[in-house]
Amino acid sequence: MQPWKYLAGYPDHLLQQVRELMDKGRLGAMLAEKYGEAHAVRSDRQLYDYVQELKDRHLRQSVPLAKVAWDGKLQVMKHALGTHTAISRVQGSRLKATREIRIATVFRDAPAEFLKMIVVHELAHLKEAEHNKPFYALCTHMAPDYHQLEFDLRLYLTHLEAGQG
Ligand SMILES: [Zn+2]
Repeated sequence: MQPWKYLAGYPDHLLQQVRELMDKGRLGAMLAEKYGEAHAVRSDRQLYDYVQELKDRHLRQSVPLAKVAWDGKLQVMKHALGTHTAISRVQGSRLKATREIRIATVFRDAPAEFLKMIVVHELAHLKEAEHNKPFYALCTHMAPDYHQLEFDLRLYLTHLEAGQG
């Protein structure tokens, strides 16, 4: 079943609960109740400000952001929920690393907490390229409930995709 791709690797008993919620048509309501708050980040400029604000608060020391943009072509799962590009440019004799963050447009209409979660994920990649222990330590530093948010985001994407199918 295709929508389950977002939940690959999670234990069976958890998936069983999700299936029951879906069968009863209650997954959407459950998510709406838990994540009722929308956000007002619409333009690339607003997204840049949003990302920069979080970065200033938690990762002031890390490399400057070159560009932040919504990306309608980004496939959420393919890039592990977002994408992060390190671009090296030679400036004089110095090699300067700049960073670009692109966020899939599905997050434009997603609840506020899910936008925060994905931005936290991408910001953590400024310091850690891999999804390793230090990476997740950074994520939970910026968003203490990061793991719950990531799981619920997967539920949200599963719900969206089930609705389309
Ligand atoms: Zn990642």
